[in-house]
Amino acid sequence: AKEDGRNGFKFYTEDMSFEVMKRVILENKIREAILNEDFIVYYQPQYNGLTNKLMGMEALVRWKNPQSNELIPPDEFIPIAQDAGFIVEIDRIVMKKAIKDFAFLLKQGFDIKTLSLNLAMKQLKSDDFISLLFETIEAYNCNPNSIELEVTEGAIMEDPLSSIEKLQRISNYGVKLSVDDFGTGYSSLAYLKKLPINKLKIDRAFIKDLPFDEEDVAISKSVIALAKSLKLEVIAEGVETKEQKDFLVKNDCLNIQGYYYSKPIPFKELEELLNSLK
Ligand code: C2E
Ligand code: CA
Ligand code: CA
Ligand code: CA
Repeated sequence: AKEDGRNGFKFYTEDMSFEVMKRVILENKIREAILNEDFIVYYQPQYNGLTNKLMGMEALVRWKNPQSNELIPPDEFIPIAQDAGFIVEIDRIVMKKAIKDFAFLLKQGFDIKTLSLNLAMKQLKSDDFISLLFETIEAYNCNPNSIELEVTEGAIMEDPLSSIEKLQRISNYGVKLSVDDFGTGYSSLAYLKKLPINKLKIDRAFIKDLPFDEEDVAISKSVIALAKSLKLEVIAEGVETKEQKDFLVKNDCLNIQGYYYSKPIPFKELEELLNSLK
Protein backbone atom coordinates (compact mmCIF):
# COMPACT_ATOMS: atom_id res chain seq x y z
CA ALA A 1 0.00 0.00 0.00
CA LYS A 2 1.12 3.56 0.50
CA GLU A 3 3.96 4.78 2.61
CA ASP A 4 5.46 8.16 3.23
CA GLY A 5 8.36 9.06 1.00
CA ARG A 6 11.44 10.89 2.13
CA ASN A 7 9.95 14.29 1.49
CA GLY A 8 6.63 13.35 3.01
CA PHE A 9 4.96 12.72 -0.35
CA LYS A 10 3.14 9.44 -0.73
CA PHE A 11 4.04 6.99 -3.48
CA TYR A 12 1.57 4.64 -5.09
CA THR A 13 1.97 1.06 -6.17
CA GLU A 14 0.24 -1.11 -8.74
CA ASP A 15 -2.10 -2.79 -6.29
CA MET A 16 -3.87 0.45 -5.59
CA SER A 17 -7.18 1.07 -7.24
CA PHE A 18 -7.51 3.92 -9.65
CA GLU A 19 -9.67 5.82 -7.16
CA VAL A 20 -7.13 5.53 -4.38
CA MET A 21 -4.39 6.58 -6.77
CA LYS A 22 -6.32 9.64 -7.86
CA ARG A 23 -6.81 10.54 -4.24
CA VAL A 24 -3.14 10.20 -3.38
CA ILE A 25 -2.22 12.36 -6.35
CA LEU A 26 -4.74 14.95 -5.27
CA GLU A 27 -3.46 14.86 -1.69
CA ASN A 28 0.05 15.52 -2.94
CA LYS A 29 -1.20 18.39 -5.08
CA ILE A 30 -3.01 19.92 -2.13
CA ARG A 31 0.15 19.62 -0.06
CA GLU A 32 2.06 21.42 -2.79
CA ALA A 33 -0.64 24.07 -3.03
CA ILE A 34 -0.34 24.71 0.71
CA LEU A 35 3.42 25.19 0.42
CA ASN A 36 2.90 27.61 -2.47
CA GLU A 37 -0.14 29.24 -0.88
CA ASP A 38 -2.07 28.68 -4.12
CA PHE A 39 -5.35 29.55 -2.47
CA ILE A 40 -7.33 32.66 -3.04
CA VAL A 41 -10.23 34.01 -1.09
CA TYR A 42 -13.53 35.02 -2.63
CA TYR A 43 -16.04 37.10 -0.74
CA GLN A 44 -19.78 36.89 -0.81
CA PRO A 45 -21.49 40.01 0.50
CA GLN A 46 -24.36 39.78 3.00
CA TYR A 47 -27.12 42.34 2.85
CA ASN A 48 -29.90 43.72 4.95
CA GLY A 49 -32.88 42.76 2.82
CA LEU A 50 -34.99 45.63 4.09
CA THR A 51 -32.54 48.49 3.51
CA ASN A 52 -30.49 46.74 0.79
CA LYS A 53 -27.38 47.82 2.64
CA LEU A 54 -24.23 45.68 2.53
CA MET A 55 -23.61 44.45 6.07
CA GLY A 56 -20.96 41.77 5.94
CA MET A 57 -19.05 39.29 3.85
CA GLU A 58 -18.25 35.60 3.99
CA ALA A 59 -14.77 34.39 3.00
CA LEU A 60 -14.89 31.38 0.67
CA VAL A 61 -11.73 29.63 -0.44
CA ARG A 62 -10.79 28.76 -4.04
CA TRP A 63 -7.81 26.70 -5.14
CA LYS A 64 -5.99 28.30 -8.02
CA ASN A 65 -4.18 25.86 -10.27
CA PRO A 66 -0.97 27.74 -11.10
CA GLN A 67 -0.57 26.02 -14.49
CA SER A 68 -4.04 26.58 -15.89
CA ASN A 69 -5.15 29.43 -13.61
CA GLU A 70 -8.31 27.42 -13.22
CA LEU A 71 -10.22 27.88 -9.95
CA ILE A 72 -11.13 24.68 -8.17
CA PRO A 73 -14.20 24.96 -5.92
CA PRO A 74 -13.96 23.93 -2.25
CA ASP A 75 -16.29 20.95 -2.61
CA GLU A 76 -13.63 19.31 -4.78
CA PHE A 77 -10.81 19.54 -2.26
CA ILE A 78 -12.13 20.39 1.21
CA PRO A 79 -13.39 16.86 1.96
CA ILE A 80 -10.01 15.39 0.99
CA ALA A 81 -8.16 18.10 2.88
CA GLN A 82 -10.34 17.33 5.90
CA ASP A 83 -9.51 13.61 5.83
CA ALA A 84 -5.82 14.22 5.28
CA GLY A 85 -5.70 16.89 7.98
CA PHE A 86 -4.59 19.65 5.60
CA ILE A 87 -7.69 21.69 6.21
CA VAL A 88 -6.09 23.26 9.26
CA GLU A 89 -3.34 24.71 7.06
CA ILE A 90 -5.77 25.87 4.41
CA ASP A 91 -7.99 27.61 6.92
CA ARG A 92 -4.97 29.31 8.41
CA ILE A 93 -4.08 30.72 5.01
CA VAL A 94 -7.68 31.80 4.40
CA MET A 95 -8.03 33.37 7.83
CA LYS A 96 -4.89 35.46 7.47
CA LYS A 97 -5.75 36.65 3.95
CA ALA A 98 -9.35 37.43 4.82
CA ILE A 99 -8.58 39.39 7.99
CA LYS A 100 -5.90 41.32 6.11
CA ASP A 101 -8.33 42.17 3.28
CA PHE A 102 -11.06 43.09 5.74
CA ALA A 103 -8.77 45.39 7.73
CA PHE A 104 -7.64 47.02 4.48
CA LEU A 105 -11.24 47.77 3.48
CA LEU A 106 -12.07 49.22 6.89
CA LYS A 107 -8.98 51.41 6.73
CA GLN A 108 -10.27 52.81 3.44
CA GLY A 109 -13.41 53.85 5.26
CA PHE A 110 -15.83 51.21 4.01
CA ASP A 111 -18.47 50.39 6.57
CA ILE A 112 -18.64 46.59 6.77
CA LYS A 113 -19.97 45.18 10.00
CA THR A 114 -18.73 41.59 9.87
CA LEU A 115 -16.31 39.19 8.26
CA SER A 116 -17.44 35.55 8.42
CA LEU A 117 -14.92 32.72 8.31
CA ASN A 118 -15.71 29.04 7.92
CA LEU A 119 -14.23 26.89 10.64
CA ALA A 120 -13.58 23.21 9.91
CA MET A 121 -14.05 20.59 12.63
CA LYS A 122 -10.31 20.02 12.91
CA GLN A 123 -9.68 23.71 13.53
CA LEU A 124 -11.85 23.60 16.57
CA LYS A 125 -9.53 21.03 18.06
CA SER A 126 -6.40 23.03 17.45
CA ASP A 127 -5.19 25.39 20.18
CA ASP A 128 -2.76 26.84 17.67
CA PHE A 129 -5.64 28.01 15.57
CA ILE A 130 -7.23 29.94 18.39
CA SER A 131 -4.00 31.73 19.30
CA LEU A 132 -3.32 32.47 15.65
CA LEU A 133 -6.83 33.87 15.26
CA PHE A 134 -6.34 36.20 18.22
CA GLU A 135 -2.85 37.19 17.05
CA THR A 136 -4.08 37.97 13.54
CA ILE A 137 -6.99 40.03 14.84
CA GLU A 138 -4.53 42.01 16.98
CA ALA A 139 -1.95 42.35 14.22
CA TYR A 140 -4.51 44.02 11.96
CA ASN A 141 -6.14 45.98 14.76
CA CYS A 142 -9.55 44.50 14.11
CA ASN A 143 -12.39 44.63 16.56
CA PRO A 144 -12.99 40.98 17.57
CA ASN A 145 -16.72 41.76 17.55
CA SER A 146 -16.56 42.24 13.80
CA ILE A 147 -15.21 38.73 13.17
CA GLU A 148 -17.58 35.79 13.05
CA LEU A 149 -16.81 32.09 12.82
CA GLU A 150 -19.25 29.77 11.07
CA VAL A 151 -19.28 26.29 12.56
CA THR A 152 -21.50 23.40 11.56
CA GLU A 153 -23.57 21.38 13.97
CA GLY A 154 -21.52 18.36 12.94
CA ALA A 155 -18.28 20.04 14.01
CA ILE A 156 -19.72 20.84 17.41
CA MET A 157 -21.32 17.46 17.98
CA GLU A 158 -18.20 15.53 17.07
CA ASP A 159 -16.68 16.50 20.40
CA PRO A 160 -19.19 18.62 22.32
CA LEU A 161 -17.24 18.92 25.56
CA SER A 162 -14.03 20.20 24.05
CA SER A 163 -16.00 22.29 21.53
CA ILE A 164 -17.79 24.08 24.33
CA GLU A 165 -14.53 24.94 26.01
CA LYS A 166 -12.96 26.21 22.75
CA LEU A 167 -16.01 28.12 21.64
CA GLN A 168 -16.25 29.73 25.07
CA ARG A 169 -12.68 30.99 24.77
CA ILE A 170 -13.37 32.37 21.33
CA SER A 171 -16.56 34.00 22.52
CA ASN A 172 -14.96 35.48 25.64
CA TYR A 173 -12.44 37.13 23.37
CA GLY A 174 -15.31 38.81 21.54
CA VAL A 175 -15.40 36.83 18.30
CA LYS A 176 -18.95 35.91 17.24
CA LEU A 177 -20.17 32.42 16.47
CA SER A 178 -22.71 31.35 13.91
CA VAL A 179 -24.17 27.88 13.26
CA ASP A 180 -23.74 27.16 9.54
CA ASP A 181 -26.12 24.95 7.53
CA PHE A 182 -28.56 25.14 10.42
CA GLY A 183 -31.19 22.41 10.32
CA THR A 184 -29.20 19.89 8.29
CA GLY A 185 -27.24 18.34 11.17
CA TYR A 186 -28.67 15.72 13.43
CA SER A 187 -28.39 17.25 16.83
CA SER A 188 -30.50 18.09 19.76
CA LEU A 189 -31.36 21.71 20.16
CA ALA A 190 -30.00 21.50 23.69
CA TYR A 191 -26.56 22.57 22.56
CA LEU A 192 -27.91 25.94 21.49
CA LYS A 193 -28.50 26.72 25.13
CA LYS A 194 -25.07 25.54 26.26
CA LEU A 195 -22.99 27.20 23.58
CA PRO A 196 -22.10 30.87 23.23
CA ILE A 197 -23.77 31.14 19.83
CA ASN A 198 -24.83 34.45 18.30
CA LYS A 199 -26.44 33.51 15.00
CA LEU A 200 -28.19 30.77 13.06
CA LYS A 201 -27.64 30.45 9.34
CA ILE A 202 -30.60 28.81 7.63
CA ASP A 203 -29.29 26.27 5.15
CA ARG A 204 -29.80 26.86 1.46
CA ALA A 205 -31.72 23.56 1.19
CA PHE A 206 -34.65 25.18 3.01
CA ILE A 207 -34.48 28.39 1.00
CA LYS A 208 -34.40 26.85 -2.47
CA ASP A 209 -38.14 26.21 -2.85
CA LEU A 210 -39.42 29.22 -0.92
CA PRO A 211 -42.06 30.53 -0.90
CA PHE A 212 -43.81 27.66 -2.70
CA ASP A 213 -42.90 24.55 -0.74
CA GLU A 214 -45.10 24.29 2.35
CA GLU A 215 -42.59 22.32 4.38
CA ASP A 216 -39.78 24.71 3.60
CA VAL A 217 -42.05 27.61 4.56
CA ALA A 218 -42.78 25.89 7.87
CA ILE A 219 -39.13 25.05 8.53
CA SER A 220 -37.74 28.47 7.75
CA LYS A 221 -40.44 30.19 9.82
CA SER A 222 -39.64 27.86 12.73
CA VAL A 223 -35.92 28.58 12.56
CA ILE A 224 -36.62 32.32 12.51
CA ALA A 225 -38.94 31.94 15.52
CA LEU A 226 -36.41 29.78 17.34
CA ALA A 227 -33.68 32.35 16.77
CA LYS A 228 -35.95 35.11 18.01
CA SER A 229 -36.93 33.28 21.20
CA LEU A 230 -33.31 32.41 21.96
CA LYS A 231 -32.28 36.01 21.19
CA LEU A 232 -30.04 34.93 18.33
CA GLU A 233 -29.55 36.62 15.02
CA VAL A 234 -30.61 34.79 11.89
CA ILE A 235 -29.37 34.87 8.29
CA ALA A 236 -30.53 33.03 5.18
CA GLU A 237 -28.05 31.73 2.62
CA GLY A 238 -28.58 30.69 -0.98
CA VAL A 239 -31.19 33.38 -1.60
CA GLU A 240 -31.51 33.62 -5.38
CA THR A 241 -34.85 35.25 -6.16
CA LYS A 242 -36.83 38.31 -5.18
CA GLU A 243 -39.68 36.07 -4.00
CA GLN A 244 -37.36 34.29 -1.59
CA LYS A 245 -35.91 37.55 -0.34
CA ASP A 246 -39.33 39.16 0.12
CA PHE A 247 -40.67 36.11 1.95
CA LEU A 248 -37.73 36.10 4.36
CA VAL A 249 -37.86 39.83 5.03
CA LYS A 250 -41.63 39.67 5.58
CA ASN A 251 -41.05 36.88 8.10
CA ASP A 252 -38.37 38.80 10.01
CA CYS A 253 -35.19 37.34 8.59
CA LEU A 254 -33.50 40.51 7.43
CA ASN A 255 -30.00 39.17 6.82
CA ILE A 256 -29.72 37.85 3.30
CA GLN A 257 -26.86 36.17 1.45
CA GLY A 258 -27.09 34.71 -2.02
CA TYR A 259 -26.93 35.18 -5.77
CA TYR A 260 -29.94 37.52 -5.59
CA TYR A 261 -27.53 40.15 -4.32
CA SER A 262 -24.16 38.79 -5.38
CA LYS A 263 -22.16 35.66 -6.09
CA PRO A 264 -18.88 35.19 -4.24
CA ILE A 265 -16.42 37.59 -5.93
CA PRO A 266 -12.66 38.16 -5.85
CA PHE A 267 -11.27 40.96 -3.67
CA LYS A 268 -10.80 43.39 -6.58
CA GLU A 269 -14.45 43.08 -7.55
CA LEU A 270 -15.54 43.50 -3.96
CA GLU A 271 -13.59 46.76 -3.79
CA GLU A 272 -15.27 47.94 -7.00
CA LEU A 273 -18.66 46.97 -5.64
CA LEU A 274 -18.02 48.88 -2.40
CA ASN A 275 -16.85 51.91 -4.34
CA SER A 276 -19.98 51.83 -6.48
CA LEU A 277 -22.13 51.79 -3.32
CA LYS A 278 -20.38 54.82 -1.80
P1 C2E B 1 -21.05 27.16 2.87
O1 C2E B 1 -20.26 27.64 4.03
O2 C2E B 1 -22.45 26.71 3.13
O3 C2E B 1 -20.98 28.33 1.80
C1 C2E B 1 -22.03 28.69 0.96
C2 C2E B 1 -21.87 28.08 -0.42
O4 C2E B 1 -23.06 28.36 -1.17
C3 C2E B 1 -20.72 28.67 -1.22
O5 C2E B 1 -20.21 27.64 -2.03
C4 C2E B 1 -21.43 29.72 -2.07
O6 C2E B 1 -20.74 30.01 -3.27
C5 C2E B 1 -22.73 29.03 -2.36
N1 C2E B 1 -23.80 30.00 -2.63
C6 C2E B 1 -23.92 31.25 -2.14
N2 C2E B 1 -25.05 31.84 -2.56
C7 C2E B 1 -25.68 30.94 -3.34
C8 C2E B 1 -26.92 30.95 -4.09
O7 C2E B 1 -27.67 31.93 -4.09
N3 C2E B 1 -27.24 29.82 -4.77
C9 C2E B 1 -26.45 28.71 -4.78
N4 C2E B 1 -26.85 27.67 -5.48
N5 C2E B 1 -25.28 28.69 -4.11
C10 C2E B 1 -24.90 29.76 -3.38
P2 C2E B 1 -18.66 27.37 -2.16
O8 C2E B 1 -17.91 28.68 -2.18
O9 C2E B 1 -18.46 26.45 -3.31
O10 C2E B 1 -18.30 26.65 -0.81
C11 C2E B 1 -18.80 25.39 -0.52
C12 C2E B 1 -18.51 24.98 0.89
O11 C2E B 1 -17.11 24.78 1.11
C13 C2E B 1 -18.92 26.02 1.91
O12 C2E B 1 -20.30 25.93 2.15
C14 C2E B 1 -18.08 25.64 3.11
O13 C2E B 1 -18.67 24.58 3.82
C15 C2E B 1 -16.82 25.13 2.45
N6 C2E B 1 -15.81 26.19 2.48
C16 C2E B 1 -15.63 27.24 1.65
N7 C2E B 1 -14.59 27.99 2.01
C17 C2E B 1 -14.06 27.41 3.12
C18 C2E B 1 -12.94 27.70 3.98
O14 C2E B 1 -12.19 28.69 3.80
N8 C2E B 1 -12.72 26.86 5.01
C19 C2E B 1 -13.52 25.77 5.25
N9 C2E B 1 -13.24 25.00 6.30
N10 C2E B 1 -14.58 25.47 4.48
C20 C2E B 1 -14.84 26.26 3.42
CA1 CA C 1 -20.43 29.11 5.57
CA1 CA D 1 -23.94 26.91 4.60
CA1 CA E 1 -40.63 19.46 0.24
